[in-house]
Amino acid sequence: MRVVADRDKCMGNGLCEAVHPAVFAVGDDGVVIVHDENVRAEDRRLLEQAVAACPAFALRLVDDD
Ligand code: SF4
Repeated sequence: MRVVADRDKCMGNGLCEAVHPAVFAVGDDGVVIVHDENVRAEDRRLLEQAVAACPAFALRLVDDD
């Protein structure tokens, strides 16, 4: 499973970074950066919270299996 960001939708408010700063950051251009797309089991709950927190619906979890 991966976490994917649609940078065209991102509004840069940093809510995802607040939920999981090890994975998300807002770059100098004001758009989200995903440091690591791979979803580890121990991170899944936090990543689900980040996806739910995004007001722009710019984040989603993708199941590659
Ligand atoms: S929460 Fe959504 S809109 Fe805000 S920085 Fe993260 S991806 Fe962008």
